[in-house]
Amino acid sequence: MKQPKELARFIESEVIRQYGAEKYLLRLFITLRDTQLEDRALSTILSVQQTVLSNKAFGPYFVTTGVLGALCDILERENNREVPEPGIVSSIAESTVDIFGWITEEVPLAEGAAILIREHNIFHLIARYILHLSKTLTARGLDYVLEFCRANEHLGQRLAARSGKNALRKDYQRALRQEWAPLLIAPDNLHTLNHPDGVRIIKLVRQAWWRLGSVGAGFNEEKEKKEYEKRAEKMCSWRECCWHTIEPPSPTKLCQGCGEARYCGSPCQRRDWKGGHERACRRLKNTSHHGPVP
Ligand SMILES: [Zn+2]
Ligand SMILES: [Zn+2]
Repeated sequence: MKQPKELARFIESEVIRQYGAEKYLLRLFITLRDTQLEDRALSTILSVQQTVLSNKAFGPYFVTTGVLGALCDILERENNREVPEPGIVSSIAESTVDIFGWITEEVPLAEGAAILIREHNIFHLIARYILHLSKTLTARGLDYVLEFCRANEHLGQRLAARSGKNALRKDYQRALRQEWAPLLIAPDNLHTLNHPDGVRIIKLVRQAWWRLGSVGAGFNEEKEKKEYEKRAEKMCSWRECCWHTIEPPSPTKLCQGCGEARYCGSPCQRRDWKGGHERACRRLKNTSHHGPVP
């Protein structure tokens, strides 16, 4: 979210003063909600917004125009792609992560970070995005994740310095707690698949995520891991499932093989089986086993 000088001047004098920040966002909202828009077009539009939206005049209108919600829905949709493709698709998600980091840092809390946390469960979106990095990893995506983590670590410190009831800090901690330990527990090799620089990258992401919880929210790693293990009994075991950190609407079913892993449904069971449970299941059961019940 850096503006070349001439572009910054253009946005200031034409987009903001002539057209108007609110009107621009209202128009952008229509595009972001356009279900007919192709991935390539959306990718281009979003990468332009990374530059345009970094003018502070847009700050008061992200929520009221619906743009913030639309960006969150886009990231959620990208997270739900079963097989994310490299290139265009990863660039769509990356742009949203960049914009969220910037909003957290630069937009007044009531119009930015507070809404991201309370209404859009932003930590859930980002944690799932980090898991997806293993498949669509780019240097750009990594930078934005690190920036998002730093912006939110800084947010946590700003909230901790506040006095009074501090309801936002409690909401921040509650939302982050749900996601923090599960991602720390995720296996080390998760993000290193098919990437020559994987070891270094996983280390950087882990450090940033760890600092976000420890420094930003004041969490104790051991305590949070233990508490998640208790909670996890109700969740889907597949780490990329949206019910991995949130309790699903209907109870999970036990894996017939080991009787320990649990799933919200057979698609997750199949994915986890391929994603490593095949070996873990045998270890847990320690007898012959014929695979998951479809
Ligand atoms: Zn099993
Ligand atoms: Zn699931």
